[in-house]
Amino acid sequence: MNDDELRQQALDACHGLAAYGLGSGIGGHISLRVPGKELYWTNALDRTFEEMRLEDIVLLDFDGNPVKSDRPISPGIGFHQGIYKLRPDVGAIVHTHGYWITAQSAYGRPLRNLHNLATYFHNATAIAPDDEIESIAPAMKQGDNAIIIPWHGAITMGPSMVEAAALHVTFDYAARLDVQVPADVPLMPEDHARTIQGLLAKANYLKLTWDLMKRKAARGHNGEVVVPQVAA
Ligand SMILES: [Zn+2]
Repeated sequence: MNDDELRQQALDACHGLAAYGLGSGIGGHISLRVPGKELYWTNALDRTFEEMRLEDIVLLDFDGNPVKSDRPISPGIGFHQGIYKLRPDVGAIVHTHGYWITAQSAYGRPLRNLHNLATYFHNATAIAPDDEIESIAPAMKQGDNAIIIPWHGAITMGPSMVEAAALHVTFDYAARLDVQVPADVPLMPEDHARTIQGLLAKANYLKLTWDLMKRKAARGHNGEVVVPQVAA
């Protein structure tokens, strides 16, 4: 993708996340790496995801400095370049304070395997030791697709925004189950989880979910519609 396409996809991600109730407060940031360069596109801090317009998507270098922009950026942006430096396979990152994601993060542990979709994150989730920018990216191992920041929120990542954004709404769904299902409910057996992981890989679920996010966004989350801060 060229720069215009990357910037548009970053905007699509903001609106798609908003359509899932994940971007109706200030805070949260998404990014898309510019292939082959130490640059990435991200969103300005002073708009919600649902309000974002193309001019609110700005370019940063790997020191976190804006390139030709004076828009405010989250002071917590640094883990994006931290992840990009450590993980050449990662092309896009999503971080929100979604209500259920944040509730689950307070446990400070990975999601329980309570549903097929939770298996996306099984053995692929890091727990950040604290809120410090410097400690978040090094908490990952190669292949992880999520980082939980205790009492704060979560990060999802993937080779492109298709995976990073679709994993984020999937994480939100699994986190809602995790928080609400009682502690004594049996977990999915390990061999069953591995079978499900194989089936999901064949199902093209993340691409289909990304397409759904864009359809939902196109129906109303165009920068003017305000959705509840906490999804019903
Ligand atoms: Zn945050």
